[in-house]
Amino acid sequence: MGLNCTKTCRESGVCIWCLEECYTKVCKCSYAHKECSVSLCKQGCICRICNTRFRHSWFLQSLPKTTIEDEQIELMLQARSQNVVRKKRYAYRCWANTFFPVFILYLKRHNARPRNMIISLETVTEDMSNQRSLAQFMMNQCWKQDEIDEHMNMVCTIVDTYNIMDLKIKKELLKCFKKHCR
Ligand SMILES: [Zn+2]
Ligand SMILES: [Zn+2]
Repeated sequence: MGLNCTKTCRESGVCIWCLEECYTKVCKCSYAHKECSVSLCKQGCICRICNTRFRHSWFLQSLPKTTIEDEQIELMLQARSQNVVRKKRYAYRCWANTFFPVFILYLKRHNARPRNMIISLETVTEDMSNQRSLAQFMMNQCWKQDEIDEHMNMVCTIVDTYNIMDLKIKKELLKCFKKHCR
């Protein structure tokens, strides 16, 4: 546009590999970054559009590094999600250490061998009479009705979400279950 627009004003386009802005051409028709051209060349050395050989990668612009700000945001998001998992894990552990002792005692009294945590929990959610019998058992152990309801809700939540549950939380639950089975 201006009069000074000479060498400093580089023509740029979009890298055909990563679709980010790029100002080096890898062939007659297209732009690509150094790193991207390596991936590109794995699919063939000649451009299918203009039929020229791709240029040597050392000639090309390097892929711009993510900015410090991007990295900081990324780190912050990572830390936050790790923190959420940690808090959840702690909450599940506290719950498991309160519920599993009475639950395993109940299973043993009913001659059910508590081998698999999730199968044992499913016997409670899938059968109303089992649920009632466990609630009665807990009541005999001096649990209050609202506490029992809360625990039943938690059991349902675990059974329903077990497949998509964070691996660390799953491990935490299994560990607690095993610990109280002994
Ligand atoms: Zn690229
Ligand atoms: Zn080309």
